[in-house]
Amino acid sequence: MSLLTRTRSAELAERAREITPGGVHSNVRLAGPSVFFERGEGAWLYDEDGNDYIDYLLGQGPIFLGHAPRQVTDAVAREMRRGSVFAGQHTLENRAGELFLESVDWAEKVRFGVTGTETDQAALRLARAATGRTRFVRFAGTYHGWLDNVLITTVDGVPRPASAGQLSRHLDDSYVLPYNDTAALETLLDQDDDIAAVIVEPVLCNSGAILPVEGYLHRLRELCDQHGVVLIFDEVITGFRLALGGAAEYFGVTPDLAVYGKAMAGGWPVSALAGSATLMDLFADGVTHAGTFNSSVPACAAVVSTLTLLREDPPYGRVHAHGTKLMDSIRELAVQHDLPLRVQGLPVAFHVSFGSPGSILDHAGLASFDLDRYAAFSHTLADHGIWVAPRGIWYVSAAHGDVELSATLERLDAALSVEAA
Ligand code: PLP
Repeated sequence: MSLLTRTRSAELAERAREITPGGVHSNVRLAGPSVFFERGEGAWLYDEDGNDYIDYLLGQGPIFLGHAPRQVTDAVAREMRRGSVFAGQHTLENRAGELFLESVDWAEKVRFGVTGTETDQAALRLARAATGRTRFVRFAGTYHGWLDNVLITTVDGVPRPASAGQLSRHLDDSYVLPYNDTAALETLLDQDDDIAAVIVEPVLCNSGAILPVEGYLHRLRELCDQHGVVLIFDEVITGFRLALGGAAEYFGVTPDLAVYGKAMAGGWPVSALAGSATLMDLFADGVTHAGTFNSSVPACAAVVSTLTLLREDPPYGRVHAHGTKLMDSIRELAVQHDLPLRVQGLPVAFHVSFGSPGSILDHAGLASFDLDRYAAFSHTLADHGIWVAPRGIWYVSAAHGDVELSATLERLDAALSVEAA
């Protein structure tokens, strides 16, 4: 397969840089190749130069049903003709809430929001209010949005602000521990009784798709119970993707609160915070959570139709089988090209990098990978019609099938030949 040319994208990118900083509206996009997409359909993206791409980035995760899923887009278009926000209630938000709570069955109440970032903040605030304590524990390599108290980078085990303009005093809000290390958490909880919450990505999808070791999430649950700490699962990636009930269902561990986003609304901007009635009802009793666009008509229509689809024809078995085949095939191709490409994680969200084989347990383990080499290779993949994140994550959607698999392997084979040359 010959390399794609992107003349029109290059022209548009030049114009975009005059309009918006870096030519992008989210800094995460600065690392990717500058491609202007004309449309997405199913598992495919089409750019302004007429090139097609098999999409494994899925809009950073939301496109779990594939691009422009007919039932969802039709429902959103139909419902939003009635208006979009009323600053009052409407019946679709009850239906969306019911379907949500039937899917995430450990939760008793839910609040809808727009982004994962703000909803993580709502969870932390609620935990502080419920416990009367101040700080929270999080883990190196997790991502909980781009705001001051959660945006960190860890250098040699020491947390630092990740952005210019960020006040380092905000990092005093949290302790940063290594993931998969229960001893570190035990020690900390014994020493400090001012901890309101432990917030965790149940699978470290933002750092190498690292899985919890056997019993780890259960131990987090026990420790939080022993110390009266609120356990928050950040299910923005795992929710509705690992299983209908997310990581809580997949691993059989129930948090006190959980934050959702991405896969729950077929591509529309919707997030959710869910938990026990006792905790969640604090939002009606002194704890503020607000948002002009929360539970808008199109958002609720998207949730209702997405959750209806996921409940009526659960794609989880199919996606798992497809992702497993894909992971195995990538490994086989890498061996054929004699390249140290390693693949780890869950079939629905896995991580690809260059480095030595063997599993890693935490963010520090990523140092054994050549992440820069993979980031550069992700551009080679884009040049061969495979759209992935430079940071290594691959998402598989319900729209990926045999056609996509064989096209991917053909394109990957060509990209690996370039890499091996
Ligand atoms: N939490 C996790 C685990 C995420 O992966 C993300 C985004 O990728 C967020 C929170 C923030 O979500 P949003 O980008 O919708 O603000």
